[in-house]
Amino acid sequence: MPSIFLDRDGVINKKIDGGYVTTWKEFEWLPGSIDAIKLLSDQGWGIYVATNQACVGKGILKQDDLEYIHTLMIRELAKNGAKIKKVYFCPHTIETRCRCRKPNPGMLFTAAEENGLSLSNSYFIGDSITDMQAANAAGMYGILINDAEQMLNRKCYHKARNLMEAANYILKRAGSC
Ligand SMILES: [Mg+2]
Repeated sequence: MPSIFLDRDGVINKKIDGGYVTTWKEFEWLPGSIDAIKLLSDQGWGIYVATNQACVGKGILKQDDLEYIHTLMIRELAKNGAKIKKVYFCPHTIETRCRCRKPNPGMLFTAAEENGLSLSNSYFIGDSITDMQAANAAGMYGILINDAEQMLNRKCYHKARNLMEAANYILKRAGSC
């Protein structure tokens, strides 16, 4: 199954500088992100989210409340004809040294196992270098959405300005194979 993994904050919704999305009210869609997810799901791609949410481990947000935000996110997408199959999240803090917190690829391996995915044919779209490191460790094709110049010297991934641009790139690339 071809699949696409998305980071959440900074890819689907607006990142909160130095903080976390702790309520649905604070969840602000990035322009075009719903349409991009719809475009990809319409084309038959299985779409998953893999997000670090250390706010749970830090006691800032209860896991149930995080999952509720994701339920509302998936519901809102579905209303617009866009489908996300499952949201994987790492609730741990960096000190936990878990296998799931990106840049570690644990969430991606778990998703592959649970859904029978071939990661080498899959994409990861993220806005952090740690997303690209996780993609790389899982043998996936990384697409970085970020304008930070210091990230330009890394060649292990493609760059796009936003999720829609990344989606169009994937469709073009897949179509030409
Ligand atoms: Mg992010």
